Amino acid sequence: MDDLKFRKAMGKFASGVTVITTDLEDDVHGMTANAFMSLSLHPKLVVVSIDNRAHMLEKIRSSKKYAVNILAEDQQILSMNFAGQLKENIDISFATLSGQSVLEGAVAQVTCEVVNEHVEGDHTLFIGKVTDIHIEDREPLLFYNGKYRSLKEEKVVETV
Ligand code: FAD
Ligand code: NAD
Repeated sequence: MDDLKFRKAMGKFASGVTVITTDLEDDVHGMTANAFMSLSLHPKLVVVSIDNRAHMLEKIRSSKKYAVNILAEDQQILSMNFAGQLKENIDISFATLSGQSVLEGAVAQVTCEVVNEHVEGDHTLFIGKVTDIHIEDREPLLFYNGKYRSLKEEKVVETV
C-alpha cells in the first residue's frame, strides 16, 4: 500500500492540534503533534507519538517530561512554527505551569512526567503521567484532510 493512501485515510480523522514542549536546562524545545491521546483516568495518563527522526525524541528522553499544549483557533501560526513550516522566526511567549514551559493562550496545558516509552515502527510512544492542568475557555484549532479548520466553519450535527 502506498504512503499517500495511508496519509489520506488518516487525514480523514479530524483532530485537534497540540504543541509538545519540553525543558532542558535553560532551553525549551517545541514540536507540533496531532498524534496525542488521552490514555487512562486512574491514573491520569496521556500518550504522544514522536517520529524517530524528530529532534524532540532525544530531548524528551533526556528531560523525562513534556507538556501538551492544545492549541486555540487563533494559534495556527504556532502550529506552523513548531512544525518547521515558517520561513521567519516569530516571537513566542512561554508561561510556566508546575515548573514546565507551556504556551500562553492554549485551550489546555497539560504537564507530564514520562513513565514509559514504546518504540513502534518509525515512531516512539511516550506515556505521560499528568502532573498539572490549566484550562482556558477558548475555541480549539482543528486539523482535517491536511488543512487547519475551526469549529465555527463546521456544521452542527442535528440530533433527532
Ligand atoms: P525541529 O524541526 O528542530 O523544530 C520544529 C520547529 O520548532 C523548528 O522550526 C524550530 O525552530 C521550532 N522551535 C522549537 N523550539 C522552539 C522555541 N523554543 N522557540 C521557537 N521556535 C522553536 N510529528 C510527529 O512526530 N508526531 C506527530 O504527532 C505530528 N503531528 C503533526 C501534526 C501537524 C498538524 C503537523 C503540521 C505536523 C506534525 N508532525 C508530527 C510533524 C512535526 O511537527 C515536524 O516534523 C517537526 O518539524 C519535527 O520537530 P523536531 O523535534 O524535529 O524539531
Ligand atoms: P498529511 O496529509 O501528511 O497527514 C495526514 C495524516 O496522516 C496526519 O494527520 C497523520 O494522522 C498521518 N500522518 C502523516 N504523516 C505521518 C507520519 N510520518 N507518521 C504517521 N502518521 C502520519 O498532513 P500534512 O499537512 O501534509 O502534514 C505536514 C507534515 O507533518 C508532513 O510531513 C507529515 O508527515 C507530518 N505529520 C506527521 C505526523 C506524525 O508523525 N504522526 C502527523 C501529522 C503530520
